[in-house]
Amino acid sequence: MLNNTVNANKAFGVSESNSSSTAENRHPNPLPPLQDRHGRTFDYVRIAVIEQCNLRCTYCMPEEGVRFKEKDMVLRTDEILRIVDILARMGVRKVRYTGGEPLVRPDIVEIVERTVQTPGVKAVHMTTNGLLFPKYAKDLRDAGLFGVNISLDSLREDKFQQITRRSGLDKVLESIDLAVELGFPRVKVNVVLMRGFNEDELIPFCELTRDKPVTVRFIEFMPFDAHQIWETGQHFASAADLCSQIEAHYAGSGINPASGTRTEHHIYQVPGYAGKIAVIPAFTRSLCGNCSRIRVTADGNIMNCLYSEVPYHLKDLMRNGASDDDVVALFRKAFDEKYKDGFEAKKAASIAAKINVSDIDRARASMTQIGG
Ligand code: SAM
Ligand code: SF4
Repeated sequence: MLNNTVNANKAFGVSESNSSSTAENRHPNPLPPLQDRHGRTFDYVRIAVIEQCNLRCTYCMPEEGVRFKEKDMVLRTDEILRIVDILARMGVRKVRYTGGEPLVRPDIVEIVERTVQTPGVKAVHMTTNGLLFPKYAKDLRDAGLFGVNISLDSLREDKFQQITRRSGLDKVLESIDLAVELGFPRVKVNVVLMRGFNEDELIPFCELTRDKPVTVRFIEFMPFDAHQIWETGQHFASAADLCSQIEAHYAGSGINPASGTRTEHHIYQVPGYAGKIAVIPAFTRSLCGNCSRIRVTADGNIMNCLYSEVPYHLKDLMRNGASDDDVVALFRKAFDEKYKDGFEAKKAASIAAKINVSDIDRARASMTQIGG
């Protein structure tokens, strides 16, 4: 373990919303920022560090798992850190580790710690299902992890088991409390709200914010569920509908709009409550104009949009001896070619799929491979 105090201070001393780089943490070898032809700047990378997972959420992965890549097909630690360093030179300030389940990867604490130490990086976050979080929470905090998003879709054990096909609700609830107790500056709870599954828990989830200083985020169900239930068309609940229900329920309380991140378009705070409520239009895509995200899949491809099906083969390039300039050029190409929004990206993907459905279509089947 490196210097814990330095790590923690570095991470906790910065404001995530302040994306301008200060002299002290600017990368010593900077490059022009990563931008696209629509005038957007990309300063936030989400890296999936593993495809495997210890849950089998119905809206994400089939019971038998997806066709996991062999170990050597997944990014190695030195490759992840090289990507982070190059992106930090291009102005990336925020890094999120996701998966699959990132805490299943044995070297995850080391990856977080070394990312925190990377010049230019201001905040490192993680999205986790929370099952293994109690085991690693203290080490992650010492390593300087800034934010933790814990995914939870039901507050009832029977429903939790039905959605995740595993037990463990107690552990996830423990993880949320522990993250608050340990003083992580950002603690969020991700809920995929679906009709016929957990729509009746909208208000109980909002009520978590009464005492807990966390943001509960309702994320629209997206068509990355390995073709399990999306296609029935029965489970989607729109952000607009969720907002109406929240506003109607709390109308008498004087519920207020609150400030959130660039993708938290609808954000509220009930007066007197400790936490916030956010609704994320992940499928209706009203947030694309503010997109600042770069995605790197566990098997080492750059994705310029969640809805794009064009992978840019970063891992292969690096393993073929690419220089840093070559890596920079691939990121620039990927973002030069980014569509205006997720609808255009999806349309282009549908046209491409008619020509060649095989590899691309299968690779995009589950969120566990893309990283959420
Ligand atoms: N295993 C970790 C977890 O569940 O938090 C990290 C990976 S998971 C793919 C990241 C996020 O994507 C989770 O919050 C999960 O709920 C969300 N997600 C997965 N499949 C989804 C889908 N089809 N629609 C919307 N969100 C989805
Ligand atoms: Fe695993 Fe996360 Fe997918 Fe659930 S949503 S199966 S926890 S990767």
